[in-house]
Parts: sequence; C-alpha cells; structure tokens
Amino acid sequence: MTGMATTILLVEDEPSIGALVRSYLAREGFGVLWVRSGEDALAELTRHPIELIVLDIGLPGIDGFEVCRRVGGRVPIIMLTARDDEPDRVAGLEAGADDYVPKPFSPRELAARVKAVLRRSRADGTTGADVSSLGPVTLSRTSREVHVDGRAVELTQREFDLLDYLLERPNMVVSRDDLLASVWGFLSPGETRTVEVHVAQLRKKLGRPELIRTIRGIGYKAVAA
Ligand code: CA
Repeated sequence: MTGMATTILLVEDEPSIGALVRSYLAREGFGVLWVRSGEDALAELTRHPIELIVLDIGLPGIDGFEVCRRVGGRVPIIMLTARDDEPDRVAGLEAGADDYVPKPFSPRELAARVKAVLRRSRADGTTGADVSSLGPVTLSRTSREVHVDGRAVELTQREFDLLDYLLERPNMVVSRDDLLASVWGFLSPGETRTVEVHVAQLRKKLGRPELIRTIRGIGYKAVAA
C-alpha cells in the first residue's frame, strides 16, 4: 500500500456535513469517495478497494443500519449518529458497526477515530501467535477464522478483535474500560454499554455463552467452561 492513499467511503446525504468531512479527511491524506445513498455505497464497494466506511444512519432509500448489515463485517464501519441517542448507537453496533461518532462532531475527532479503526484493522494477524484456542473455540489470526466445536462462526471485525483479546488472556478478569481502550481505542472510559452489546452479540454467535463469563461490576473472563 506504500504510496497509495487509503480509500475511505463516505456515505452522507447532507451536503454541508459531507463536504466538511471529505475535505478534512482529504487533508489528512486519505482518498475519499463520497456518495449520498446506501445503494450507491454498496455499488462503490464492488468497484473499489475500500478500507473503511463512514456511514450516516439517515439516508434516502436504504438506511445506514441496512448498509451495515449488508456489508456484514467485511469492511470496518464508523457510524454517524445523533447525539445522546443510545437506541441508535446500540442498533448501529448490533448491525455490525465498529465505532460511532455522535453528531455534531468535530472533524478532528472523526479523523482520530478513523485512524484508530484503521490501525486496529491493519494490526490484525500481525501480533503474537497465529492461533489461540480455549475449550471448543479456535481463533486463527492470519485467516481471521473462528471455529466452535469445528463449526465456522462469522464475526464482525470488532467481535473478532474482542474475542482475540479475551482469548489471549484466558482465565483472567478483563475490565470493560480495558476492553474499551484496547479493542476500541477509546481513551475516555465510561462507554461500557458498547462493550456489553458486543459481548452479548459475541456470546450469541459462539453459541456457548458460558465461555465468556461476566464478572459483576468489573468486566469479563474467558474460561474453558
Ligand atoms: Ca442524513
């Protein structure tokens, strides 16, 4: 990728916000493809190698949640949500978004989140041993595959990173703030609902909820059950 700009797909129907975000990200050295609808976003994904999507929720035609579901974790997504709208944020994370930035946001904050998500997605497969396993779960970093009792499980990028982090620390209590900082790159603690939603999704997909134990008031622990 040396010498090539990272391409970000910006999906935003509001002209003033779109123009602001595009110019700021371009100034930060990113290539930005700006589209105004979910349908156009899905079309662009088939035409260009996109490394990250910045996605508004309210769009003409299919909305941001639906775009998120159709992308299915193949490309990291940062959602633009209404400020203090927790149902929107939770729905976004459940649909597979990796992060969200509440509107109105500073373009600087958005750029910082973009860089954090890209850093994590590029670090995948380059840290530590290739395979972690615990009880019936096997996680492979290079192929980004997870198997439970030999059955392949589809995870979003964030769910994968979360499981990876927990499996690297078997039988150790990991706090929600630690997960926020390490898996999400959030510097300020407190957004623990984000962690809870992802853990719930991860347990559901693994089909073995007892593997990730809740340690009340603190966080989680991966156990061989
Ligand atoms: Ca909108």
